[in-house]
Amino acid sequence: MGQSRRSVLQGALGAGAAGLLVGGAAPLPAAHSRRAQKGSSLGLRWLGVAGWELSFAGRSVLFDPYLSRMPYAGEGGALDPALPLRLDPEAVEHVAEKGLTGAPELILISHGHFDHLADVPHLLGRPAWADRRVRTLCDTTSRHLLAAMGTPAHRMADVVAVNGGDHLQFDGYSVEVFRSLHSRQEDYSSFAAGTRGAVPARPRTLGDLVEGQTLAFQVSVEGGPSVLLTGTSNVAEREIAGARPDVAVIGMSGHAAVHGYPDRLLDALGAPPVLLPCHHDDMVTPLGDSGISRTASPDAVTALARAAGRSAPDGGTRVLEPRHLELLDVTGVR
Ligand SMILES: [Zn+2]
Ligand SMILES: [Zn+2]
Repeated sequence: MGQSRRSVLQGALGAGAAGLLVGGAAPLPAAHSRRAQKGSSLGLRWLGVAGWELSFAGRSVLFDPYLSRMPYAGEGGALDPALPLRLDPEAVEHVAEKGLTGAPELILISHGHFDHLADVPHLLGRPAWADRRVRTLCDTTSRHLLAAMGTPAHRMADVVAVNGGDHLQFDGYSVEVFRSLHSRQEDYSSFAAGTRGAVPARPRTLGDLVEGQTLAFQVSVEGGPSVLLTGTSNVAEREIAGARPDVAVIGMSGHAAVHGYPDRLLDALGAPPVLLPCHHDDMVTPLGDSGISRTASPDAVTALARAAGRSAPDGGTRVLEPRHLELLDVTGVR
């Protein structure tokens, strides 16, 4: 995939590319031409933490849209599962109104944790999107959690529980589902692990939103690029081996306890042409804050760039550094 992918990439990311290229590769050309066909463009917008919007032809898909950016740290700065859920509907509304393409037709959820799932019930209940059909794909636990958090019944009818191995066809694109794994804390423990086999009591604390089964998704737009979306910093590499995304979004939160990450993931994917780090910001600074981009960890970006260099020593893999809410045009990557 190296040569052909790399050659088209030279012109691929020019139009509207807002991210910074890291890892010493040549700069991308300036934008000077619009895509010929409206339907062929694919944009990616980082929503902070693990969240993304994929947009094409005026349509969009959301992945792990978490906009409340609630306080999560207890004494000593560690993640505290006993802290109350403090959703921020105003912040969610602000981004939904001003920062997104419009009502998504699909929402993908990697796992049940607060920083991935907690705002989905609010988004699904938005009056402004009431006349649009919005499907949600997630695991069974997340489906029960969405119901417990008051997701409107008519939206729950469109929440589809999926499993690793599913490959679903939508109008103009497909979504492949992979079984994945959650990141581990430094002592090898997992934050808020567990599953729910039925709708639980309404979640009140961060820890009430349990992981369930972590999933990754690959969205392949017909005639356009394919994008792998991961929301955690771990991988079941034999599940994902052979996937060949054009763009891979790689979770880069703490992974010191995970052997060979992210190298094992990149090797399983065959060195994708473009990598985007995610889950490497501070998770709490409001998206509207002028300093939001500075909360993204440069160390995480550097670590990913180094792994990319090991995985593709010929320079065939490029790491882009996304900026919150800015559109990255990845149309011609493929
Ligand atoms: Zn998590
Ligand atoms: Zn997370």
